[in-house]
Amino acid sequence: MRNALLLARDCEANDSLAASVLETIHRNIDLACSRTRPICQDTGSVLFYVTAPSSFDRTAFKKLAGRCVTAATAKGWLRPNSVDPITGRNDGTNVGPGTPTFYFEDGPDPAITIKLMLKGGGCENVGAQYSLPDARLGADRNLDGCRKAVLDAVFQAQGKGCAPGVLGICIGGDRATGYEHSKIQFLRRLDDTKPDPTLRAFEEDILRSANALGIGPMGFGGKTTLLAAKACTLNRLPASYFVTVSYMCWAFRRQGVVLDQSGHITQWLYS
Ligand code: SF4
Repeated sequence: MRNALLLARDCEANDSLAASVLETIHRNIDLACSRTRPICQDTGSVLFYVTAPSSFDRTAFKKLAGRCVTAATAKGWLRPNSVDPITGRNDGTNVGPGTPTFYFEDGPDPAITIKLMLKGGGCENVGAQYSLPDARLGADRNLDGCRKAVLDAVFQAQGKGCAPGVLGICIGGDRATGYEHSKIQFLRRLDDTKPDPTLRAFEEDILRSANALGIGPMGFGGKTTLLAAKACTLNRLPASYFVTVSYMCWAFRRQGVVLDQSGHITQWLYS
């Protein structure tokens, strides 16, 4: 992500606001790293993605992860972000109904993979779901309709949710799985490519077309609105055709580890 931000800065005109914003983001990340502080005041939703054998004790993991999240919050690495929706009460632990969030998947081998994503609220707010056909957009139930829906989401955001960032797109599924799988796209490497040529071309087209809109970093204009677009498909009901767009801001925080059965880290992901 840092490489992508630096490349983007070098692509913008030297004295432009876009280059200045990207340079400021870059300096901010350096400062946060050197002082072990968050790169943004909003440390976001805490999302765990775990792939493990069926014998893995999910309940114990959830309890332990909750304790770690609370400890990280006490150190100031995470902002107290878990708020009762009705009363507004925030007990400062970052643990409550629905927070942190866990996704478990059975894995084929004894290794355990744990990935953590922090997703800011501003970028979450500009996510969108479209039910095709969409008469406003002239978007039919085909790939061109999907393209119109995704680009509409980018256009409506106008850089809000802190551009430049990355789009996660799910074509198909239902309303819930659409959002779930659009976010799972954020676990992919920024520079990976889809083996399916149709989806690969779709991702490239979305990236190119979104950046041609001129929205730019933070909506101040420029060539860099997106750093990547990642798409997947899920089978759908004949009656439904959802296109779901999740957005991840430049503060794209994720880390992952592979553990052996005794709990030792055998591999760091995303490093
Ligand atoms: S959208 Fe991202 S960069 Fe913007 S305030 Fe939220 S976490 Fe920070």
